[in-house]
Amino acid sequence: MSEREFKNSYPDYNESFKIYDPDTGRLINEIEGPLMENVFILLQTLEKHLASDIDWSDSSVYTGTSGIALLYFRFLDVKLCEGKKDFLKDALSFVEPVIPYLKKKRFSFLCGVSGPLAIASVLFHRKGLEKESIDLTRRLENLERDVCANSSENPDELLYGRAGYLFSLLYLEKHLPVDEEDDTRQNIIREVIKAILESGQFMSKKFKNTHGIPLYYEWHDKAYIGAAHGFSGILYMLLQAKRFLTEEQLDTLIRPTIDFIVSLQYPSGNFPSSIGSPTDRLVHWCHGAPGVVHLLLLAHETFPGESKYLESARRCSDVIWQRGLLKKGYGICHGVSGNGYAQLRLFQVTREAKYLYRAVKFAEWCFDYGKHGCRTPDRPLSLFEGFAGTIYYLLDLLEPLNSAFPAFQLF
Ligand SMILES: [Zn+2]
Repeated sequence: MSEREFKNSYPDYNESFKIYDPDTGRLINEIEGPLMENVFILLQTLEKHLASDIDWSDSSVYTGTSGIALLYFRFLDVKLCEGKKDFLKDALSFVEPVIPYLKKKRFSFLCGVSGPLAIASVLFHRKGLEKESIDLTRRLENLERDVCANSSENPDELLYGRAGYLFSLLYLEKHLPVDEEDDTRQNIIREVIKAILESGQFMSKKFKNTHGIPLYYEWHDKAYIGAAHGFSGILYMLLQAKRFLTEEQLDTLIRPTIDFIVSLQYPSGNFPSSIGSPTDRLVHWCHGAPGVVHLLLLAHETFPGESKYLESARRCSDVIWQRGLLKKGYGICHGVSGNGYAQLRLFQVTREAKYLYRAVKFAEWCFDYGKHGCRTPDRPLSLFEGFAGTIYYLLDLLEPLNSAFPAFQLF
């Protein structure tokens, strides 16, 4: 057995399995019932630990209190959970207290100040507190100058960089009403996109071994491919902002760069963690096929008439099915839930029951949280490494067609 993953002993999908009702999009009762039950069993355990172990000094979405707020916010919109708790109050209780103490050190959604600001702004709006909401939106928008500054200290990747700030702006666009009179935010989005594209073009010219791709990105001197630090996270965010891009930017900069990424796929279906890396090891959302697959599927939707993106995504699904029950744990960044999201996304795009089945099996694996002898993550309660992320995944699976990988997928 591999040192990285457990053997997947679940039988693969066959047509006799009934998974969901294609008319309503709902899972069959025999799957939905236990899923719902486990969501609340795990939530109870999380709440018990939060009461004694929460670290208020970490306000991030990735490992801190704002990630917990995001989980409660998700509960608010899942129909089956309606009226079970005051989820809006719970969500605010994990982000409102940290707002006065935010330091402007980083600016991304996941690890910087714009995550807590965006989440709190949207929650205030949902509560009807418009002035409070707008104040935080302005604070977030005012970060733009620092974000776009031509500084090598500002990376472009998702976790700490410009793509992570772009997510915050797009998150506000999605969740707050559009002000027809004021296009400030739309202009800021265009500026951030411009900065990311110019940075990629600059790097492509600066370095020699960039394989002729028009956009080239590095983080800590490595050209990462994955969602967290690499090309996939950056390009995926740009594609999600497609309405702010020109056809020319799409065709001459973004698409050729995606095509280069596709060409790097290993025979196994996995992707290298960085350009030039010869070892096919990591099957994580942060590094490997489970992150790249989101870019491939959005490329498939963005550039119709081209089959290679979907074919490549299907190969990702197969390798994730084989090697995705990770010994690292159950989280969404480098754990089983994050790998489940890859299958779920394939289902959303193809509507093929096979992928929903695979997503369900990964969820059922998580019902036995902590019982497989996995490693305990550094931040065991957190959204991206631990408990909260797994609950988010199970909760999302209750509405397979409405689900979205948190802090990453907008639609
Ligand atoms: Zn990770």
